[in-house]
Amino acid sequence: MNVAVVGAGIVGLSTAVALMDRGVTVTVFERGIPGNGQSGGSSRIFRHAHDDPRLVELAQRSLGIWRTWEQRFGTQLVSSDGGVAVGPAVLRRFEVMTAVDGVAAMLVDGAEVPRFLPMSAGYDGPALVDHTAGAIRTRAAIGSLTELLRDRLITDEVYAVAPRPTGAVDVVAGGSTARFDRAVICAGRHTAQLAGAIGRALPVALEAHIRFEFAVRDGRVPQMACLQDASGQYSDVSAYGTPQPGGRAYAVGLSRPIAVSDDLGVADADAFAQARQETCAYVRQALPGLAPQPVGSRACWITRLPWGDDGLAVWQEGNVHIVAGHNLFKLAPWIGTAVADAVVDGELCDELRPDATLGGAPAPRR
Ligand SMILES: Cc1cc2nc3c(=O)[nH]c(=O)nc-3n(C[C@H](O)[C@H](O)[C@H](O)COP(=O)(O)OP(=O)(O)OC[C@H]3O[C@@H](n4cnc5c(N)ncnc54)[C@H](O)[C@@H]3O)c2cc1C
Repeated sequence: MNVAVVGAGIVGLSTAVALMDRGVTVTVFERGIPGNGQSGGSSRIFRHAHDDPRLVELAQRSLGIWRTWEQRFGTQLVSSDGGVAVGPAVLRRFEVMTAVDGVAAMLVDGAEVPRFLPMSAGYDGPALVDHTAGAIRTRAAIGSLTELLRDRLITDEVYAVAPRPTGAVDVVAGGSTARFDRAVICAGRHTAQLAGAIGRALPVALEAHIRFEFAVRDGRVPQMACLQDASGQYSDVSAYGTPQPGGRAYAVGLSRPIAVSDDLGVADADAFAQARQETCAYVRQALPGLAPQPVGSRACWITRLPWGDDGLAVWQEGNVHIVAGHNLFKLAPWIGTAVADAVVDGELCDELRPDATLGGAPAPRR
């Protein structure tokens, strides 16, 4: 079988490696530098804490693959920093998490959060500690997968992915048009455009926010938990934080959305300055162990499905599979294996069907 994968972000690379491991001849089309789209930057949160119990289990399966890849590539891909969540959802999330065998979570008082995140001022109310959460070493992951796929990567922009009545799929790229047995579209924030061109309207809402990096005041902290703050104590929108590799900086994002124009640019020119000001104010109060002037930033392009911030689904149009959703980094190893199975066996797993609304309220059992 000859399969094209469009997009070399974490989802496309994971899918391509899973296909390669199944003996498929795979070609990955990437118009820029692998991992420089939504997968860019040096860290992401790996967490089990989700509202949808299916995502807790799938995160656990994904962590199993991350660990296998660590052996395969000889490098750490998910740190052992752990994770802390605060806010009204933590009691329910604790129940959801601990119902899944092997997920290690505990509840502590919010005042104890600095034990896990030394730069934190602490919180009122309960906090959920996810011991096996951590920071994903995104550059190591992208670099290792890209290296494995180096002979299969074509640097070119795909203009169209066209399923033919025969079942074949034509991939029209800048340099050439080539025919494949199957194709997978994993083009991040450009996925909806490519899908729309073959008549599949995806319910993806596009927006953005900016994540800023702050230096640790004490120089280096060996262990800094990832943070999900929906407490409302220091900001009226939720916030998240991730340790950067090396333990000297911490990335913080506030989820105040910035509108995106039709050509996928940021519509409001003042939005960056406002986001910076607001994030610095949050850091001053919530994370006083960080110096409150950013040392770096990263745009977070959000491709949200209507049923939730962690919503994820795969659509099919002829022999083309189309992956869409948000917060996919942690799940990408599992997504890759599930999509590769669908491509090879012709049968998509139940969880990834759009009517399963994975990452939202589970659909009633049929
Ligand atoms: C700042 C930030 C923080 C985040 N935090 C988290 C987190 O803590 N945990 C988590 O799990 N997720 C998080 N996410 C979300 C996660 O990073 C994304 O869901 C994930 O990286 C998406 O990967 P992808 O491969 O689908 O898309 P991308 O990484 O965008 O890859 C798509 C690729 O397709 C290429 N492409 C597009 N169009 C074409 C074309 N026509 N032809 C050829 N190539 C094309 C692009 O150049 C790009 O490289 C965050 C995202 C950001 C930006």
